[in-house]
Amino acid sequence: MIKSKWIKRRYLFKIGLIKAEKILTVAAAAALLLAMGWIIMTWARPARVQPAVSDISAFRIPYDSFRELDLLSAKYRLPFYELLTLYAQEYRFFPDKSAGLDPTDIEQKYILNYNQFKKRNTTKETASYEEVFQRLLTEMREFPIPLEENGHFVYSDSWGALREYGSDRKHEGTDILDRDNIRGRIPVVSMTDGKLLEFGWNELGGYHAGVVSESGAYYYYAHLDHFAPSLEKGAAIRAGRLLGYMGDTGYGKEGTRGQFPVHLHVGVRPKASFTAEEFWINPYPFLRRLEEKRAAPA
Ligand SMILES: [Zn+2]
Repeated sequence: MIKSKWIKRRYLFKIGLIKAEKILTVAAAAALLLAMGWIIMTWARPARVQPAVSDISAFRIPYDSFRELDLLSAKYRLPFYELLTLYAQEYRFFPDKSAGLDPTDIEQKYILNYNQFKKRNTTKETASYEEVFQRLLTEMREFPIPLEENGHFVYSDSWGALREYGSDRKHEGTDILDRDNIRGRIPVVSMTDGKLLEFGWNELGGYHAGVVSESGAYYYYAHLDHFAPSLEKGAAIRAGRLLGYMGDTGYGKEGTRGQFPVHLHVGVRPKASFTAEEFWINPYPFLRRLEEKRAAPA
């Protein structure tokens, strides 16, 4: 009696094990299917949900569209950085100049469908894109050339243009040129408050100054002819502080001049929490905005 009870128990225990094994097998299969499904879904997800850093940094929005978004943000009381972020996500961060809407269509096709776009595009990165744009828009306060110099300089959107010195490179900034090609004439001022991280010579940038803003973004002013007096490494500086004068230095050993026309290279490298990668953004629309805002009567 005792023995058979023991056998029975053992038998039941074995059945239990078999059942458990079956359940585990089914569960494992289900988990595998779910995982495969998740992987396929992730791969098949439209690419715009997770734009590449290179797409973000290109920031190839035609200035007319950038400006239209700025105006509409005031009209509809939507923050400009939000409108910009969502527009950038919807239109793949402007991979080329033809991307995005015609400025005259932005209100009808974009703003009036704003909530729908927002639902479709909001990802875990959205908030940090917004943060980057918001910081850039608020901390860039001064156009790097003083107002009195109007008429002496020209610039255009040359982001991505080929640069050949020191192996093939893509241009990662905006060049502001002295239209008369005169060295040391046009003053260059800091666009932001911040700290003067460095100033001196490097082979590509010639005499250059680097300012780090409060948000951690790096602002690079290159090819200067000479520096302003009494610059101090590590010193706090204000937007509008004179850094130096436009020149044509660089592309060689210290003191090299004349390898290209007199111009200021402006580079902006934001700090972003969505990537550990360092990247430059196209400063062109931001520069145009600064220039236009100061020209408008207050
Ligand atoms: Zn340049």
